[in-house]
Amino acid sequence: MKIRSVDCFPVRIPLKPECQMITALGVHDHSDYIVVRVNTDEELFGVGEATVSERWSGETVWGGVAILKHVLGPGVCGCDPEDIRSLDLRLNQLSRGNWFAKSAIEMACWDLRGKSLGKPIYELLGGACRDLTFRSRYSMGAYDVPRARQRAAELIDAGFETIKVKVGGAAEDDIARVRAVREVIGSQPRLVIDANCGWNVDTAIQCINALEDCRLALVEQPTPDGDYGALARVRRETTPPVMADDICFDLVHAQELIRNDCCDVISVYPGKNGGIQKCRDIIELAGSHGIACSMGSNLEFDVATAAMGHLIVSCPNLQIEEYPGDTLGPAYHRDSIAVNPLSIEGPLTTISNAPGLGIEVDWDFVRAHPAPD
Ligand SMILES: [Mg+2]
Repeated sequence: MKIRSVDCFPVRIPLKPECQMITALGVHDHSDYIVVRVNTDEELFGVGEATVSERWSGETVWGGVAILKHVLGPGVCGCDPEDIRSLDLRLNQLSRGNWFAKSAIEMACWDLRGKSLGKPIYELLGGACRDLTFRSRYSMGAYDVPRARQRAAELIDAGFETIKVKVGGAAEDDIARVRAVREVIGSQPRLVIDANCGWNVDTAIQCINALEDCRLALVEQPTPDGDYGALARVRRETTPPVMADDICFDLVHAQELIRNDCCDVISVYPGKNGGIQKCRDIIELAGSHGIACSMGSNLEFDVATAAMGHLIVSCPNLQIEEYPGDTLGPAYHRDSIAVNPLSIEGPLTTISNAPGLGIEVDWDFVRAHPAPD
């Protein structure tokens, strides 16, 4: 089987008002992503998704379409979609960076491989080590205190046991928000914070230590991108486990995190890491050094969330029992791109055991909801 062409569909879907995301990087109230279809010289095609975000990764929907259409797509034509390692090498030769765009082609090739062999992707990744239904944490925006209180109460009612609160702005506001959420949710649920690189090292240490009474279960990316020393210092000078996220795109970043004793956990996901295989390589490297991984997210639609689910189900070192991941992206959005959306009930996401990713894209919906030019 050979790749014949790659089609791109830029799609816009608004977030549900109650799910609107506010982080140190700004407001996320709609998603402009790219759905990708990899066609072959046989009947089969595979689907992928690039959850591009200018503020998070620097990739935009327009830039993503351009590089997929003019560089990555034509560059992989003629490649065997089932030979993922060679495909990855080819994608690396074609451009630097562009992790999310590359991951869309790569996950579509896993989808193709699964469909061709009649197996779900988690089987191709070594088989299920977890149930196909798994629990996520809920990631809440950096809301003002009254809104944070109300949302926290709703999430506890909906059955969430781990709540992540976005921080990374003014220290006083962040501390007040986290404290209010702990007050509302009571002592049992896990409380996680994520600064998205928004604090400097001194503010991070000050805030985390000021929140000691809130018993944080995890502190995600408290310090700026690229600063391994700052992250290591936060880990040394505070008590909760530290998770690296926005600083870790590839295997070299993961090696630096490990070498510098920066973190207890590394957040991974196929989009950020350039594909399912590259994501798994990081999970395995981390595991070999006794570092756990958790599943991060950029609020994916159904296709990329399914890709995350297949990794969760098949990778023992994605330690979601201790560090639940963010696998609720489709539930944040008003509409689905799938004919058969993933089942998401409160904190529980279930992936399909159908061949490939198990998601059938609704091409009429996708065409009818283009991201604007
Ligand atoms: Mg994060």
